[in-house]
Amino acid sequence: MPVTEDRQKFVYDFTEGNKDLKDLLGGKGANLAEMTNLGLPVPPGFTITTEACKVYLEGGEEPLSMRDEVSAHLAALEERMGKKLGQADDPLLVSVRSGAKFSMPGMMDTVLNIGLSDASVAGLATQAGDERFAWDSYRRLIQMFGKTVLGVDGDLFEEALEEAKHTKGVSTDVELDAADLKRLVEGFKAIVAQETGRDFPQDPREQMDLAIRAVFDSWNGDRAKLYRRQERIPGDLGTAVNVCSMVFGNLGPDSGTGVAFTRDPASGHQGVYGDYLQNAQGEDVVAGIRNTMQLAELEQLDKASYDQLMQIMETLETHYRDLCDIEFTIERGKLWMLQTRVGKRTAGAAFRIATQLVDQGLIDEAEALQRVSGAQLAQLMFPRFDEKATTELLGRGIAASPGAAVGKAVFDSYTAVKWSRSGEKVILIRRETNPDDLDGMIASEGILTSRGGKTSHAAVVARGMGKTCVCGAEELEVDTKRRRMTAPGGVVVEEGDVVSIDGSTGKVYLGEVPVVPSPVVEYFEGRMHAGADDADELVQAVHRMMAYADRTRRLRVRANADNAEDASRARRFGAQGIGLCRTEHMFLGERREMVERLILADTEAERDEALGALLPLQKADFVELFEAMDGLPVTVRLLDPPLHEFLPDITELSVRVALAEARQEAHENELRLLQAVHKLHEQNPMLGLRGVRLGLVIPGLFAMQVRAIAEAAAQRLGSGGDPRAEIMIPLVGTVQELEIVREEAERVIADVEAATGTDLKLTLGTMIELPRAALTAGQIAEAAEFFSFGTNDLTQTVWGFSRDDVEASFFTAYLEKGIFGVSPFETIDRDGVGSLVRAAVQAGRATRPDLKLGVCGEHGGDPESVHFFHEVGLDYVSCSPFRIPVARLEAGRAAALNGTASDSR
Ligand code: ADP
Ligand code: MG
Ligand code: MG
Repeated sequence: MPVTEDRQKFVYDFTEGNKDLKDLLGGKGANLAEMTNLGLPVPPGFTITTEACKVYLEGGEEPLSMRDEVSAHLAALEERMGKKLGQADDPLLVSVRSGAKFSMPGMMDTVLNIGLSDASVAGLATQAGDERFAWDSYRRLIQMFGKTVLGVDGDLFEEALEEAKHTKGVSTDVELDAADLKRLVEGFKAIVAQETGRDFPQDPREQMDLAIRAVFDSWNGDRAKLYRRQERIPGDLGTAVNVCSMVFGNLGPDSGTGVAFTRDPASGHQGVYGDYLQNAQGEDVVAGIRNTMQLAELEQLDKASYDQLMQIMETLETHYRDLCDIEFTIERGKLWMLQTRVGKRTAGAAFRIATQLVDQGLIDEAEALQRVSGAQLAQLMFPRFDEKATTELLGRGIAASPGAAVGKAVFDSYTAVKWSRSGEKVILIRRETNPDDLDGMIASEGILTSRGGKTSHAAVVARGMGKTCVCGAEELEVDTKRRRMTAPGGVVVEEGDVVSIDGSTGKVYLGEVPVVPSPVVEYFEGRMHAGADDADELVQAVHRMMAYADRTRRLRVRANADNAEDASRARRFGAQGIGLCRTEHMFLGERREMVERLILADTEAERDEALGALLPLQKADFVELFEAMDGLPVTVRLLDPPLHEFLPDITELSVRVALAEARQEAHENELRLLQAVHKLHEQNPMLGLRGVRLGLVIPGLFAMQVRAIAEAAAQRLGSGGDPRAEIMIPLVGTVQELEIVREEAERVIADVEAATGTDLKLTLGTMIELPRAALTAGQIAEAAEFFSFGTNDLTQTVWGFSRDDVEASFFTAYLEKGIFGVSPFETIDRDGVGSLVRAAVQAGRATRPDLKLGVCGEHGGDPESVHFFHEVGLDYVSCSPFRIPVARLEAGRAAALNGTASDSR
């Protein structure tokens, strides 16, 4: 290290930091500094940086200069407060608080009252004129310190506290007097000695140093590590430590502690929202040890503090330009601010608050877009339970997969399948699910489990299937053997009883709660207008945010839609075309038989006949589709799936043939069919005869489809329409495949143009869904006018696993182990699949600068992925109709974030 370099600074006084130093000071420290600088009443203190933590974690030793810096800052603090840490006749006490850049469960809890000891407890009692208070503070210190710094099982202290209350015959801690608490302190000290083999440290500085070290160490606790892996928080950020002089809310009835929001986190409305607890310290207010009072009642209790708090909340909100949540304490009529941060809020409130802040002139449109998310919008679009309906709440679990589901309780998958086959709606209730429950989950309206978190099997699979799921409802006791579930109040739900579960809130109800469509969907559907009298604030807010997004975004948004009905809905939702029309869906039902004939054809004549029968049907499909999307591009993908998907199941067919043989009935056709099915049977159909390969080996198939598209377009032109068809070839791996199909297609199109006297302006392109296609994109672009990234198949082929097989088997384990933060089928894997996409975009554009680029995998509607597609410069994303608003919003957010608002549209 060069000698000239300034020595690194590891400790910052609250007066030295600010809110933008979260990397260095952590969220809590940065905001304490910000409030201090705003002149708000924050108890003085200092923050030890995340850099110090990093040095400690790397070398197992605090940086050399840190100890001196802490000493200097402590001395300054003591000077300012006029007393020394732990001073016997008048002790300065501090809290040691963890605070990383992101708030993280699993990190060390805060230790309050550091500096108290056998020597100073009496001094505190004299100074405060309250002996009970001093002993209560001391017992809290030993309890918190013992648990979080010395690693003693917290239950031991809780049990001792319970016993003290029991002996005295009282039910709350405030009823214990000084003598009781003094005895409790002795008991706590004995527990510490017993469990750790050493006495509770009496030296105040040693208490502080040990607590600081414990905060550093907690960064690498198991729960913290797991949380970081799952949330993709880098493991090397480290945590800061805040040392803050104590203020006391437990000094009697004119003291207390509280939490508050600057506006309602549920509705966004301005007002007084919070809870207050008299004569209490720290977490008491949220721990539910006594009933809290509403913040508004504080006005009667202590008007001066209340008025000051209201003013501070306004200052904070104007300063942070957002909803803030805060922690405060009142010590004998004096208000102290202990924490603030931009607060969490519900999805609906996020939209309302964003527009409210624009109206107040606090933020602009681009900023407003960053205050909401596509995930929140998606949440607002799910059907919901009618709030006005009253039904019994049975309990709550984790909101694992949104939606509102009602059905009869069943406790095993077999029953779920059986009942649903006979037309019943069921809710599958299990302790936890495993791959054997898959059938049952598919058959159910929703899934409820009493164990497991957001990455449990039930949660992951339900989200993948788009099914409502509430998991980890631990207060509900599930007894699968006796087929019943018991709620806390003793209510028993038997098999067949109706229950309702809300996957957006985690609530579980007894009986049927009526489901109403989301007003936001009513609005997108055009059944409710934002300006209408009955349109609520939420709809107006969504309407405005969508307008901001549409003005800002560069990406266009198209729909994956296979028929005119979906296309029309997509258009109402704002689709700017169809990015993927899958033609295989047009070959189901009665047309299946025609495909069967095509596959079975032995002669050219038979084949032509089969194709000839399909042609007018296909053409009619396209005419409808082009009409629904008149004036907008429609990408039609030629037939993609393995042919055997159109043929009967091999086992069923074998049985039929065998039976026919046994009965000596005629079965010529079935036998031929069985042979064909055998011939087409594949071990890995996903990697078999499908996509462009079909077009190359089944003569006339693609030609028929191209002809249907061309004739449909010509017909639309003839009736004054504006069809804009794009023909897409699936599963291309090499440019040669594409060239052959292209030549044939061009011949057919020229034919139709000549016959109808039209100029169809059809374009031809390909999906990029195989690694080889991405790797040779430069060559493929020679023969393609557009690329559409098929990121579902690309993900499967890049990772080498099939979605249908793995999501239910090992994905849960992968998510739990933190190998995935989220399924790569849900959010594009930027590093792997994403880098192939990026390279293919560059290579493709290098060959053909005006190459049109889009994506039609499910990632097209995923918020995170939309940002990625914006960054790599695609022209559009395509997704299911229902996801279109989400994609529009996220495309706007991505553009606003990168400051590249569109002027090209
Ligand atoms: P968390 O991150 O869990 O909120 P905090 O560090 O904010 O932890 O502290 C836990 C509780 O202790 C909070 O209620 C906080 O307001 C309170 N607290 C922290 N420091 C002090 C202090 N110096 N004086 C009084 N109360 C404090
Ligand atoms: Mg806090
Ligand atoms: Mg595909």
